[in-house]
Amino acid sequence: MTKKIDILTLFPNMVNAAFQESIIARAVSKGLLELNCHQIRQYTTNKQGKVDDYPYSGGPGLVMAYQPIADCIRSVSAGDKPYIIYVSPQGKPFNQKKAQELVQKENLMILCGHYEGVDERVLEEFIDEEVSLGDFVLTGGEIPAMAIADCIARLIPGVLAEGSAEKESHSGLLLEYPQYTRPAEIEGKKIPEILLSGKHDEIEKWQVKTAEERTKRKRPDLYEIYEEQKLNSQTYYFDNSATTRQDDGVTEEMCRTVKFLYGNPSSLHHMGLEAERKLTSARKIIAETIGASEKEIYFTACATESNNWALRGYLEANPRAGKKVLISSTEHPSVSETAAFLSKNGYQVELLTVDNKGIVDMDKLRSALTPDTAIVSVMHVNSETGTIQPIKEISSIAKAVNPNIAVHSDCVQSYGKLPVSAKLMGVDMLSVSAHKIHGPRGVGFLYVKDGIRIAPLLCGGGQEKALRSGTENLPGIAGFAKIAKEACGKLEEHNKHVKELNKIFREIITEEIRSSNIISNEEGCPYVLSVSFPGLRAEVIQHSVEQKGVYVSVGSACSSHKKDRSPTLTAMGYNNNIIDGAIRISFTYQNTKEQADYAARVICAEVKKLYGRRKGRK
Ligand code: SAM
Repeated sequence: MTKKIDILTLFPNMVNAAFQESIIARAVSKGLLELNCHQIRQYTTNKQGKVDDYPYSGGPGLVMAYQPIADCIRSVSAGDKPYIIYVSPQGKPFNQKKAQELVQKENLMILCGHYEGVDERVLEEFIDEEVSLGDFVLTGGEIPAMAIADCIARLIPGVLAEGSAEKESHSGLLLEYPQYTRPAEIEGKKIPEILLSGKHDEIEKWQVKTAEERTKRKRPDLYEIYEEQKLNSQTYYFDNSATTRQDDGVTEEMCRTVKFLYGNPSSLHHMGLEAERKLTSARKIIAETIGASEKEIYFTACATESNNWALRGYLEANPRAGKKVLISSTEHPSVSETAAFLSKNGYQVELLTVDNKGIVDMDKLRSALTPDTAIVSVMHVNSETGTIQPIKEISSIAKAVNPNIAVHSDCVQSYGKLPVSAKLMGVDMLSVSAHKIHGPRGVGFLYVKDGIRIAPLLCGGGQEKALRSGTENLPGIAGFAKIAKEACGKLEEHNKHVKELNKIFREIITEEIRSSNIISNEEGCPYVLSVSFPGLRAEVIQHSVEQKGVYVSVGSACSSHKKDRSPTLTAMGYNNNIIDGAIRISFTYQNTKEQADYAARVICAEVKKLYGRRKGRK
């Protein structure tokens, strides 16, 4: 805590005058703070007492010289080394947070500049930090030094009455609520009635409400941050397989791209070339994350597009490949509905059955594969249960029957969470979406192995090597590349953390609710946990926990509007009682253990209540 502030100035009288009165003067006289002003001029060694000289760099004005300042600093700081601030319009803006940081320094020294400022070598040699009072220029550093010293002094315990500094404007994110003093009515103007009620709880609520209102009105910039923090602190979001909160770094990257790289990558001028360079670099980053080459990555609007394109585009471009399409019985609708479309258009679609863990039955796969099979599509990680499919094995079995069979995998729920390598998995095509890993919505990609022919879904300007026309969503792609690199670079670290979150839920739920049925197998992807509370309806559980700020889902978000029972859980052999009571809890590395603990306990408490109500009705 600050005990001493030394101010180095050419005008000590000016500074001293400010601290002769009121609260700061009392703090000094009570010995809570030592405040000294030092005349820099006293330390000059030249006969004329000069402290400044002409700038070598030219231009008007004078610059405060090195020697007197250096000697003044050395003399004043003999003993304990102070934390030295130079007040300057070039410094970091001073605010309450900075004051709270600076009050932690025991000895503070503030150097006030004048004229054009001080010789740069002073800054290099002595200054710990430059602090600005704002983006404007004053004639000297005395007023900033006074303001900063005053603000720090009132944070020293004992200087103000206890608690006075705690609810003030800028102590948090809200401005202070309105203040009134006696009389309660003057010239017909009354104070709000609540303030006379003596109801402390109500008065506190009024304080928060009015503080919010005035912050929103007077400082919308602060209110936005407050609103975001409030939302995040009251939200326990465990529906990350549906979508994730876009990462702030991604938003910044997208904004930079929107502002500075708005040229069309197809344009031949400089702006276009710059945009194209960004696109190429994003493609390279993405390709590296799956061990592919840049020419194998095609940007799309979403994984639904990628999945549609993979199946339809492949079959259209390879009419002699065969008429049979194999997909697992637990695919996302963007694959299963595409397959349904294909079956109406002359293709023979066969659903591969799964075992009770949701894994494709390899014997069934072998018997389903025929010389007429054109394509096999199996998702890597199931969005509802987290089941991991052995894609490499599936591909090997298919290719052993016919090396020309194309293998596609929907990797939406595994990319950025588990290792995804096109070559190691042995796939010809794979689909990914950005928004499942804190990237932007509206962007995905399809990997198409070099040499695989695929027809375009969209024709037009010839973008993406004439296979996916339409002006590229460069901000989205740039944001995607940023988060892809981060997520894929930290797979193990994130995985370890998410496993712990998953374990917290499993342990609390199995301990608290005996009848619970954990559907996700432990060897599955830890990012998804499917659990059923037989006899209850998942929608009811979802809405009850939502009241407590906990967000989970009922089956996959893309199909949750549908009333049909989950095809995945049905295919796994679960009965309707279990399917109807199944909720999906899905994680992100951004969830904390505290959030997991809270959410798991809320789910259990609500489930107990619902079971209780059910019993009561019987
Ligand atoms: N030539 C300097 C520049 O353009 O950055 C401005 C020098 S200013 C006229 C003289 C002195 O006033 C500075 O050295 C600094 O100590 C002080 N000063 C002026 N504006 C300030 C501000 N906004 N915050 C903190 N100190 C300021």
